[in-house]
Amino acid sequence: MPVKLDWLGVSTFRVIVDDMVIFLDAYINRVPSAPSVGLKVEDVRAADYVLVGHSHFDHLWGAETIARNTGAKIIGSHETVRLMELEEVSGSQLMAVSGGETIKLSDSVSVKVYPSQHSCIWSSSGSSKEACFGDQGVMHHERQMRLQERANQRASSTDHGMADVMRHRSACMQFPRAEGGAYAYLIETPDGSILWKDTSGHWTGILRDIRPDVGILAASGRGNIDGEPIQGSLAQFVSREVELLKPGKVVLCHHDDWCPPVTSPTDVGPIRQELERHHPRVSLTEMGYLEGYPILG
Ligand SMILES: [Zn+2]
Repeated sequence: MPVKLDWLGVSTFRVIVDDMVIFLDAYINRVPSAPSVGLKVEDVRAADYVLVGHSHFDHLWGAETIARNTGAKIIGSHETVRLMELEEVSGSQLMAVSGGETIKLSDSVSVKVYPSQHSCIWSSSGSSKEACFGDQGVMHHERQMRLQERANQRASSTDHGMADVMRHRSACMQFPRAEGGAYAYLIETPDGSILWKDTSGHWTGILRDIRPDVGILAASGRGNIDGEPIQGSLAQFVSREVELLKPGKVVLCHHDDWCPPVTSPTDVGPIRQELERHHPRVSLTEMGYLEGYPILG
């Protein structure tokens, strides 16, 4: 049976391997102004695992509902586990990881956890084509101050649609301590492997030469390379990840307009062109929501 992949918006996917269902992130219910993904998290009836890339609400929120309704086990950072405990998810359904673990999910499927980096949300970012420069060597406290200023601006904004966004954010606010650590996961199946990253950042030495069959790569914001913002465009960032990983296929994520008016969709065109130019043998799969795409086998 082929391994099937459903995209559920942002970086959330459902991977179906034989009779096993693995969620990658869990954020499915979103603001009314965002395009619907065709599924509500309350309607998820089958799941064995939820792998969580990091603890921000647009990745983690919903994992508690899936765990409660299906008995699925959540695998994520110690921060993710802390937040899920506050949501009263049973301790027997929580597994904290910090990178370096290989976890057996079934007799034939396992997952490896790699330490990763979050995108530079404190820095400026352009379109996928436009190169961004500067912001190197910014100290941690300065980054945090910039994030706080942005949060204050959002809270006082009177832009059309912002009231809905603020209502949504308060509904899904689990109060994470920053992103709680970011991870990449390598899922290994008899039909091949899938490397999934839910935010645009990485450690170069860790990503190099993993060589998955499929790379699911986030394409949003200012890319983070070894702790510093990329001096270049988002398209160049994705291309750089492909160069390091050497996947056979690439699937993008986090590029949809998931929270208007705060977000806007990433233009995939420059990314496609950059990959065609530098990695002509790598195929880019552009996926719609809930397509049940046969990704392996
Ligand atoms: Zn995030």
